[in-house]
Amino acid sequence: MTEIIKHLSPNQGPRRDGLRPSLVVIHYTAMQSTADALERLCDPAAEVSAHYLISGQGDIIQMVEEDQRAWHAGQGEWAGQDDINSRSIGIELDNKGTHPFSEPQIRALECLLRGIMDRWGIPPEGIIGHSDMAPGRKSDPGRHFDWARLARQGLAERANASALTATPTEEAFKAQAKNAGFTADVPIATLLSATRLRFSPWLSGPLCAEDMCFPAPLLPNGNKSPPEASPDQNRLTPQGSRR
Ligand SMILES: [Zn+2]
Repeated sequence: MTEIIKHLSPNQGPRRDGLRPSLVVIHYTAMQSTADALERLCDPAAEVSAHYLISGQGDIIQMVEEDQRAWHAGQGEWAGQDDINSRSIGIELDNKGTHPFSEPQIRALECLLRGIMDRWGIPPEGIIGHSDMAPGRKSDPGRHFDWARLARQGLAERANASALTATPTEEAFKAQAKNAGFTADVPIATLLSATRLRFSPWLSGPLCAEDMCFPAPLLPNGNKSPPEASPDQNRLTPQGSRR
């Protein structure tokens, strides 16, 4: 595990209603440097923070203890739940949003995610982007963030290409997006931008069949329907390594 540097922020408080983290929200900082971002995330006047900040070199800085509530998510909802700050751990990646993420930074993120998921029993579907819970208002971690790479390692949900059908209706798209967690009430174009950022950043133009690649919904017993066979996933994610 990469060594974690502690630099605590005053911008934090207790989680409300005794909530435990069940989500991880990934952000980019959109600032000039890690030092600038750290200064802002620890500035009482800014009233923002996150649990972790990861530099482009892969250094992990912890600003808020995981059992405390950091101020990173703001207004929004996911899977019908609000006060995302009380339900999540926030990770900021030093990135301006206009360029790729570095390899050391993503490797540090993957290592950190494995630890968080283990400690709190968070499944892959609990790893989301800021734009997933605040569509239209936020666009981070943005189109350069490689969700598919996380998904291949069991660190995020896999898009489900086998669900592709004929060109969908807006109603069908909205219903499936809602099933997948996108429950915020936003116009269809805003929703489409958000789901594309997450699952198909190469798409543009009107709603199409490829937009229906949402992960398998929960079964009535609360489990996921089994994903399609993937030797790749089996190799990288040995059984029993993670809850
Ligand atoms: Zn953000």
